[in-house]
Amino acid sequence: MARYVDAVCKMCRREGIKLFLKGDRCYTEKCAIDRRAYPPGEHGQARRRPRKMSEYGMQLREKQKLRRVYGVLERQFRHYFARANRMEGITGERLLQLLERRLDNVVYRMGFAPSRPAARQLIRHGHIRVRGRKVNIPSFRVKPGDVITVREKSRQLPVVQDALKGAEMRPKAPYVEVDRAKLEGTFLTLPSRVDIPMPVEEQLIVELYSK
Ligand code: SF4
Repeated sequence: MARYVDAVCKMCRREGIKLFLKGDRCYTEKCAIDRRAYPPGEHGQARRRPRKMSEYGMQLREKQKLRRVYGVLERQFRHYFARANRMEGITGERLLQLLERRLDNVVYRMGFAPSRPAARQLIRHGHIRVRGRKVNIPSFRVKPGDVITVREKSRQLPVVQDALKGAEMRPKAPYVEVDRAKLEGTFLTLPSRVDIPMPVEEQLIVELYSK
């Protein structure tokens, strides 16, 4: 399966915001956005001043930002959009809900992994259970009421224990409930837009794909 292998901090610098792809490092002064707050590349420094962006440029940047936060490649992202577009309700909100329901995102939101890429690795390596059954597909779509647990043998893994400590620094998602002692969490309900802590203008993405 295709995946992004370049330096991830470049993506934050390109979007001009923290995408939190590196776990605890993102909260320290080592964060590349804090040290080099300009776009990557040879001419990055020349673009320190904000440029006037076209309408298409703004739509594209919002789409790339959202795609990169959740670690989804273009093709899969288009599938999410097509599905959201077929659903009743506001397309942008439905799109965000579909992305929030990805198992790697839910594991991250519950605080069992320091970042979404780390959550993806835990899932791929078989450390995560959904309703008591092993699921090793990061894009698995979680349903309201699903109980997610870290496999008993994996509970003392340093990455999991460190993630639990680091999770206290992050905003809580009201649509998950977590029992940290048992390393068990429940996905309570589909989140509404106001509950999803995502600084993105999803309407611009809807406009981009509706052309
Ligand atoms: Fe982005 Fe984290 Fe890298 Fe900072 S440390 S640039 S937030 S991935």
